[in-house]
Amino acid sequence: MENQIRPHLVLIPPPLKGHITPMLQLATILHSKGFFINIAHTYFNSPNPSNHPNFNFLPFFDGLSNTQITSKNFIDIASTLNTNCASPLKERLIHHKAKLEEHDEKIACIIYDGFFHFIDSLAKELKLPSIVFRTTSATNILTYHVCAHLHAKGYLPLQDSKSSDLVPELDILRFKDLPIFNLTNPHDFLHGISKTLSITPLGVIFNTVESLEDSSLNHLQHLYNVNLFPIGPLHMLSNESNNISILPESDRCISWLNNKARKSVLYVSLGSIASWEEKELTEMACGLVKSRQNFLWVIRPETVTEVIAWLESLSEDIKLGVAEKGCIVKWAPQSEVLAHEAVGGFWSHCGWNSTLESLCEGIPIICQPYFGDQRVNARLLSHVWKVGLEWCNVMEREEIEKVVRRLMVNQEGEELRKRAIELKHEIRLDLSGSSCDALNGLVKCILSGNV
Ligand code: UDP
Repeated sequence: MENQIRPHLVLIPPPLKGHITPMLQLATILHSKGFFINIAHTYFNSPNPSNHPNFNFLPFFDGLSNTQITSKNFIDIASTLNTNCASPLKERLIHHKAKLEEHDEKIACIIYDGFFHFIDSLAKELKLPSIVFRTTSATNILTYHVCAHLHAKGYLPLQDSKSSDLVPELDILRFKDLPIFNLTNPHDFLHGISKTLSITPLGVIFNTVESLEDSSLNHLQHLYNVNLFPIGPLHMLSNESNNISILPESDRCISWLNNKARKSVLYVSLGSIASWEEKELTEMACGLVKSRQNFLWVIRPETVTEVIAWLESLSEDIKLGVAEKGCIVKWAPQSEVLAHEAVGGFWSHCGWNSTLESLCEGIPIICQPYFGDQRVNARLLSHVWKVGLEWCNVMEREEIEKVVRRLMVNQEGEELRKRAIELKHEIRLDLSGSSCDALNGLVKCILSGNV
């Protein structure tokens, strides 16, 4: 595209870290392919423009209340954003489109997160081509179809007695792995899903790779009959994950890791959303110390009001154990940590980004999913790819000590580590193979106006 005006793309992430990060990575990749990048974003959780001097930022009003933001009720947040953002975003896009047209430039395509289902009809109204970007696994998107099917067949609410049965339409999962399981109000969720599924995109971008999700991608292709672009793992392709953190990172942990033996450290981070009571943190601290393994533990500031005071309240032997074996930080440069040779295991909530980051470095996982797609990812990790340990998720020190030793010390953990390294090589082959082809296909599709 040299000597030509760069075609403009507008990328639209919702204001959630697990969604903004991969969208910015996608933006970086597409910028390197010659596109001019515009990021349309809400004021809440807005990315920092000074970290991305090559991008243009288009903020729009979100109308989220503070109560909603602190509630962490994502179904409510999603529904509010899909209502409140429609007209401010429309104005933004109309204004930007007109501005570009003054200079004989145009928007080649809108790439929006599937979380914002209203954008499908908005793009059509503005006669702009659009593509959906899915930031979860392809298998998770498949569960949406399955849940809608189960609903239509009168299976909901799911019965506890059937929780361990395999889902007939997707038999790698059990009913309890579905995002809908245990929801207090599955109907709100289904309502959101039905809107998401009614989107008729011409293309869907996935942050995944064929070697991990070939069968789910084929299944989706069959259902959607649209162009699917599995172009992950985006953090590897963009090479930029460290520049786009929302929270300040602690470099202290890297120097701490530098002094530890190979594969001797368990990295503990349960994501950017989940929070615990002090009692649970205390059980975690005791379990970790009793396992006698080194650990690097992320405790986000909002998780516990006073980390220092909480640490002080621990018994003397546990305090000593934490000081001797542990390093606690508020936020870690996760990709760098997982790539560090001292790290031998990850205790994770199995968010999709964390899952991919761990797989890319060949690090096996203790799976502690909480909600949504995390349970699907945990099942894939433990049952399908066989690089993760499913455990009882009971936050008690004895259980924690046992599971940490299973991963870090026992033969079982060694087997998982071997398999994780094999999978890492397969993913890296995909990076220069199928993901690269899918990326080139996407660029071609956008430039030819076939989206
Ligand atoms: N992350 C990080 N440092 C931390 C904890 C998390 O950089 O201390 C990043 C992590 O690398 C991942 C993202 O935060 O890219 C979390 O996304 P994920 O999809 O795993 O889970 P979510 O937080 O959205 O539930």
